[in-house]
Amino acid sequence: MNDASLQRLGVDKPSDALIDCAWLLADPGNAPAQPDVRLTLQAGRVQHIASVDAAPGARRKLVLPALANAHDHARTFRSATLGAFGQPLESWLPYLGVIPGADPYLCAATSFARTVRGGVSDAMVHYTRVQGVGTYLEEAKAVARAACDVGLRIGFAIAMRDRNGIAYCEDDAVLAALRPDIRREIAARLSVTPVSAQQQLAQVDAVARMVDESGYAAHVTVQYGPTGVQWCGTPLLEAIAAASADSGRPVHMHLLETQYQRQWADQVHPQGIVPFLDSIGLLSPRLTLAHCTWARPPELALLAERGVTIAVNTSSNLGLKSGIAPVAGMLAQGCRVAMGLDGMAFDEDDDALREMRLAYSLHRGWGFETTMTRGQLWSFAAVHGRRSVNGAAAAAQSGGGRIAAGAAADLLVLDWDAVDDDALLPGIDPMDLLLARANGAHVDQVFVGGRKIVEAGKIVGVDEAALRAELIAQVRSSLAAERDTAHWKAMIDALAQDLGPFYRTGRHLRCC
Ligand SMILES: [Zn+2]
Repeated sequence: MNDASLQRLGVDKPSDALIDCAWLLADPGNAPAQPDVRLTLQAGRVQHIASVDAAPGARRKLVLPALANAHDHARTFRSATLGAFGQPLESWLPYLGVIPGADPYLCAATSFARTVRGGVSDAMVHYTRVQGVGTYLEEAKAVARAACDVGLRIGFAIAMRDRNGIAYCEDDAVLAALRPDIRREIAARLSVTPVSAQQQLAQVDAVARMVDESGYAAHVTVQYGPTGVQWCGTPLLEAIAAASADSGRPVHMHLLETQYQRQWADQVHPQGIVPFLDSIGLLSPRLTLAHCTWARPPELALLAERGVTIAVNTSSNLGLKSGIAPVAGMLAQGCRVAMGLDGMAFDEDDDALREMRLAYSLHRGWGFETTMTRGQLWSFAAVHGRRSVNGAAAAAQSGGGRIAAGAAADLLVLDWDAVDDDALLPGIDPMDLLLARANGAHVDQVFVGGRKIVEAGKIVGVDEAALRAELIAQVRSSLAAERDTAHWKAMIDALAQDLGPFYRTGRHLRCC
């Protein structure tokens, strides 16, 4: 056993516990709330669920299954902080590299801390923003250690790409459309240097080996992370499809996030981009596709037939001006749909409870129509994402997303006195209050596999405030030392201005 594993033995163990709650929502949307319940946790699982007399004067708790975040990137700095507020995806992406790389452990740990305080036990990390401070393997190990220390489970999808670094066309073609004085530097910093599919696959294998050997496997599921069809050539996607079929490893990819990606897909794949992915063997129950905001009903039907999971990112799609995903249409076609936050929750705070409310408000149906039931909402917010993060077998084995004897003790404990602070009438369904007003500020405790990782709204495993202060100090000092940043930010601002007319006039369609 290595040092890291020995160190963690003390903190990474489930503790046996009794939780008395005023309300238990064991299977929200499917079963009614139960009053006055005692949960017994043992060896990481829920052992017993029994009635108990309410303790007079005790603060009331509501316990429900922890939520899952099926699409994210472990980015810790928020968009508006980077000067990217209001940019559509295409001009927003370059802003992610506007500040210098920082300590990957600090970045990941602070991001994970905010995620679990927002009510999430299982989160996807599509690792598209590499800090680049040490070797890739060292950085991956730092991310895995951060997940372990904070205590959540992550899917760790290694970003893979080999083309179109600046826009949805050859780099040379878009460079020619930019103002001349920024071309050289934009090319130098954003153009893609292709790395062979074999090398990219070998990197995924190396990270998976490191995760196993370092004892992180209970917290980290390594996945293939092709960034998107417009960023990955067909041989790379074919190689990933074959490797996934061979190894059983999950695949995580963006698809049809914006109207410009839709136009590109129709131009480059006139027979249909989804049938194309099917023809190369990429559509499988191991695949999660983020967004599908611009997918059409026949495409959704094929994704449903192949057992693909779709991760819908409601706030992100609003924040990056991408649109509103056809969630009702996805459900009507029988798709497995999961909630993602994509680092862009509505208040830039990774609040999964508010994200669930926003998605439900947009997709439940207008007037007397119901297009998303509460049961479907729950599967979306807490059940299906676990499969994207941990893989199908582990998700089925844990039984998470619902609280039952024998299921993994992945629990969210809310301060119910704070949520239900003006009770007047008997018989109001606690689920109504949950959907109407609960948010991250009400999260009192979070348990993952029986380990208490949030207590009184604070992270137990790391000193979040200290890590955040250290990270911000580190970045400010490298910004002060590196006078190039203001210049690079001005380049990106200029690029953003030039990409507007480029996409609006369809120039991304003329070079493919
Ligand atoms: Zn994303």
